[in-house]
Amino acid sequence: MSDNVRVDFDALKARADFRAVLSHYGIKLPGRGMQVKICCPFHDDAEPSCSINLERGIFHCFGAGCGVEGNVLDFVHRMETQNGAAASIRTSALRIAEICGIPLDDIRAQKVARKPREGRKASGAGKPLPSSTKAAPGPPARPQEAVPEEPRSNRPLGFALKLDPGHSYLVERNIPPSIVERFGLGFCNRGTMAGRICIPIRNVAGELVAYAGRWAGRAEDLPEGEDKYKLPSGFLKTLELFNLHRVRQCRHLVVVEGYFGTMRLDHERIPAVALMGSSLDEAQIALLYEHCPSLEALTVMLDGGEAASKAADVVASQLARHWWVRIAELTDGEQPDTVPLDDLHRLLRRGNP
Ligand SMILES: [Zn+2]
Repeated sequence: MSDNVRVDFDALKARADFRAVLSHYGIKLPGRGMQVKICCPFHDDAEPSCSINLERGIFHCFGAGCGVEGNVLDFVHRMETQNGAAASIRTSALRIAEICGIPLDDIRAQKVARKPREGRKASGAGKPLPSSTKAAPGPPARPQEAVPEEPRSNRPLGFALKLDPGHSYLVERNIPPSIVERFGLGFCNRGTMAGRICIPIRNVAGELVAYAGRWAGRAEDLPEGEDKYKLPSGFLKTLELFNLHRVRQCRHLVVVEGYFGTMRLDHERIPAVALMGSSLDEAQIALLYEHCPSLEALTVMLDGGEAASKAADVVASQLARHWWVRIAELTDGEQPDTVPLDDLHRLLRRGNP
């Protein structure tokens, strides 16, 4: 019977349960989330490097030299042909149906039926409907009432602060002059940002929308009620990702918390953006979605420490709804701009598809 079933692969994939498939092959799931990592069954994998998005039914192995990827059907086909066995995509599909208990009738390929034209019965094409069955016209749709909305964007500043790029803070922090120049850093000695190193924040179009200020003096000299970092009041940081305008063509992106981490990665030619904090807003996800069309995978590299580790889990799960995501965990107290270069590359190599 199943021999002559023509399978609708899309219908099959939509119905397939990746969990059931993994369990069928004796692969244990490490967690309960929709994004899981397993030891890759397609290469000799010492630690889990095969990511599976259970919701989307896709997998991707980040193991060095492996890189297998695909959907649940590809996965089963690989499993079925692993030891040189012959199995077609179609028999793999039927295997999935068997594993997941999907009735063959539900995945049988059918000729695409043309939609009956409006006002005609499907069975009685050509005949006008009896008038009694005509639907009464509903009330006319009311036009949506316009709700005046606050502008949800940061307007370009239209001015630039006069900054001192040669300030000792930048020298002592070992910020290379090329970074100082590229990012337009400098010390501000007047106004609300007085006493701070100013970091220009640009929107996705590269327009200056705000300055972040990093206190350059001793912590005990901070003005009452102010923090180490300061953003202008009224600036909506959830609507920007620091450095986004430079990474719009990237396929792999590192997400960090802070400005200096981003600058360091940029200096190492690693595309990175900063959340300007440890949480990710849906508006920021939308920015990535809209402006980084080639983006495939992200590495979340928040500052090292227990709180950041929890934050990284949250950020990663938000991003995992759209892209491949992994977390690069730094040791306690370490930050992307302080981690030794070798460690940085090691942390990222495993995450790079
Ligand atoms: Zn693999």
